[in-house]
Amino acid sequence: MNTLTADDRTQVTREATVEYWKHIIPIVQIAFAIHVLLLGLFLIVDLPVMWVTNAASVAAYIACLLAIKRRLYRCAGMLICIEIIAHAAIATWVLGWDSNFHLYVFCIVPIIAFGFHSSPVRRGCLSAAVLIVTVGGYLLRNKVPVFSISENARDLFGAANALTATALLLHATALSVRFNLSMHMNLYHSAHRDSLTNLYTRRRVLQRLRQLGGGRREIPTALVLIDIDHFKQINDKHGHDMGDVVLQQVADVIAQCVRTTDIAARWGGEEFLVLMPNTRFEDARLIAERILTHIREQGGEIRQSLNLTATLAVAILKDGETFRDALNRADQRLYEGKQEGRNRVMLAE
Ligand code: GH3
Ligand code: MG
Ligand code: MG
Repeated sequence: MNTLTADDRTQVTREATVEYWKHIIPIVQIAFAIHVLLLGLFLIVDLPVMWVTNAASVAAYIACLLAIKRRLYRCAGMLICIEIIAHAAIATWVLGWDSNFHLYVFCIVPIIAFGFHSSPVRRGCLSAAVLIVTVGGYLLRNKVPVFSISENARDLFGAANALTATALLLHATALSVRFNLSMHMNLYHSAHRDSLTNLYTRRRVLQRLRQLGGGRREIPTALVLIDIDHFKQINDKHGHDMGDVVLQQVADVIAQCVRTTDIAARWGGEEFLVLMPNTRFEDARLIAERILTHIREQGGEIRQSLNLTATLAVAILKDGETFRDALNRADQRLYEGKQEGRNRVMLAE
């Protein structure tokens, strides 16, 4: 269910835009370099319309890079689109359809597509411009070029432009896919990792349980519940910031004591849970003991006067038992551990 508010959506769009442009910068730099080369080439062959066009393109890409730096992304996008469309139209007119300069307009398709949230008029105009250059250029192909160049030179331009435009489009598409993947990974990270401790979240534990399924297993799944003792007093005595440091250190200790196949999560405020697939009860107990020993040692390392302990409960997911039931058993034993004086590992057999 999507419960994002309008403000959230604006924020997400803004963040996605920043991320997207980070991926586009290398393309703008490549485009800049290509136009510097073309400028030199047309100066050498002395074709004034084309070198003036390329000089304007170089200036447009410099302005575009400056706009990106200042986060004026809409302006940068428009500059790129106008430059590519205008350059393709002029070059096609001057050097002929076979010079393949029109192919570059397809490189702005990803930029138009990314602007899905911007004005439909702007998107419509840019799409129409792409069509005008390609369809119009094709229909008028016999009426151009205005400036005749040799057959060989046109073939050379045709081949070089087809190659460059295809490579650019492939690169732009690959960057768009990479951008998508990196956004997805960021989202996955935010949803599955606790921001304070970097341990997994409840969501990841539940996801892992779904992956494990409820079927019967030869080696069971174990869980260890960990609750820091008298944590409120630590906050009261040493301050909330120190409380946060303690949570981070305890989280590090837990992460170091478990295997990579285990899911160590922050379950609530000062409560942690480790889900251990394929783990026998005795092994889970040993890991719980190790975690407790390291938590005790960690207290002295954070601050000498800090008496850091925790109460832990170990349970196995029995056949036919839900995770919730096993968790309740562990929770009950943890509560009893607190009553019995804390600082111990309780077994919920
Ligand atoms: P017990 O030994 O019985 O577990 O006592 P306790 O003080 O650890 O437990 P209690 O539930 O009374 O207090 C937990 C405290 O944890 C209260 C809350 O303010 C604090 N807490 C929860 N989340 C955070 C956090 O992210 N940072 C800090 N610094 N404190 C937190
Ligand atoms: Mg506690
Ligand atoms: Mg608690």
